[in-house]
Amino acid sequence: LPVLAVVGRPNVGKSTLVNRILGRREAVVQDQPGVTRDRVTYEANWAGRRFKLVDTGGWEQDVLGLDASVAAQAEFAIQAADAVVFVVDSKVGATDTDEAVVKLLRRAGKPVVLCANKVDGPTGEADAAMLWNLGLGEPHPVSSLHGRGTGDLLDAILDVLPEAPQQTFGAGGIGGPRRIALIGRPNVGKSSMLNKVAKEDRVVVNEQAGTTRDPVDELIELGGKQWMFVDTAGIRRKVHLQEGADYYASLRTAAALEKAECAVVLIDVSESISVQDTRIISMAVDAGRCVVIAYNKWDTLDDERRFYLEREIERDLVQVQWAPRVNVSARTGRHMEKLVPAIETALAGWETRVPTGKLNSFLGELVAAHPHPIRGGKQPRILFGTQAGTKPPRFVLFASGFIEAGYRRFIERRLREEFGFEGTPIQISVRVRE
Ligand code: GDP
Repeated sequence: LPVLAVVGRPNVGKSTLVNRILGRREAVVQDQPGVTRDRVTYEANWAGRRFKLVDTGGWEQDVLGLDASVAAQAEFAIQAADAVVFVVDSKVGATDTDEAVVKLLRRAGKPVVLCANKVDGPTGEADAAMLWNLGLGEPHPVSSLHGRGTGDLLDAILDVLPEAPQQTFGAGGIGGPRRIALIGRPNVGKSSMLNKVAKEDRVVVNEQAGTTRDPVDELIELGGKQWMFVDTAGIRRKVHLQEGADYYASLRTAAALEKAECAVVLIDVSESISVQDTRIISMAVDAGRCVVIAYNKWDTLDDERRFYLEREIERDLVQVQWAPRVNVSARTGRHMEKLVPAIETALAGWETRVPTGKLNSFLGELVAAHPHPIRGGKQPRILFGTQAGTKPPRFVLFASGFIEAGYRRFIERRLREEFGFEGTPIQISVRVRE
């Protein structure tokens, strides 16, 4: 199995992170000086991939000085690990010790994922963004204590961790097949679409050793690739609950979104777009998933209904103008072949990263050409920005004063025009610097 080492100064939260990754609540060992562990290697599993997790926290014995213990961890990581998670306390920021370890790690050339831990306060995101300075790439904001961000961190780790030979998972590539949720209100045609998709192509029964997957997920080959359609039980098994049906339907949608990377939202074009439709779309956007909108039952459209449909889309779905659109019929199979390219477009947007330099020259020009309106005799300015993450793209902008919502939307629009981001929500937070 590939080996992942967790490295960092004492008290940055390594043990808590290890427990999170292992999925257990109790601490393995408290972060206490002088505690020796008899076991430092654990077997972990994420998204069906197994790896060895080495917790170096136990080496923080008081016999070693601080720098010596941390250097020993780095030394180990360099020699024995295939990849390293370097944990930094984002509340404290990067210390000299941290910087010394970074030098060691970079010289060794092993892949390193930077974990900005303890991101749980109001300034968390911005504190995490400051760790770009370490030169290790994107700081992944995490609260090991609350579990926030650990999923994304693990995804990033799996991206750099070499695949164990026996683990290769078909055409899905690194990290396994992409995970798709088919969502939409009852009777929009989810089960019809799943059947269509699963019938035309091959349903892959995957009994490979070492891959764990939920029986409610289905692996389907489409367009030469494997896709995991998540949480399909509720789609296949048509339970029609009377009482509280909406509640259960939205619970199921939330659960599917939790597991998915991309949401394919179905809209039934034979009926008016409803509040339920827009609510489901909002759930996908709020969950930070990339979105494709599939207008289903296209075979039922006549000219009049089509005319009104386009008006409804303009009026009710402006919030997701950026989402790729496919006009399909799960019944006749019309345009079903356009689904995969749309999903791929959305996933690409979701993973887009704008280099800090490029972003700042873009922001510089934008601010010069379109300054923020003057408020109270002062002109709030965007000073600089950084993309703090992907999946979905997250930006932290630093400003000299309060930036109004309208100006934020303007920036988002211009970011989309400049860099694409088709199919993905983007999140922008602004931090005011005094
Ligand atoms: P679900 O509740 O979202 O899973 O919806 P179903 O797949 O059960 O579909 C609800 C109804 O819509 C069924 O009667 C389907 O036959 C019908 N339906 C689904 N897709 C289409 C389509 O593309 N065109 C037409 N005309 N009917 C469809």
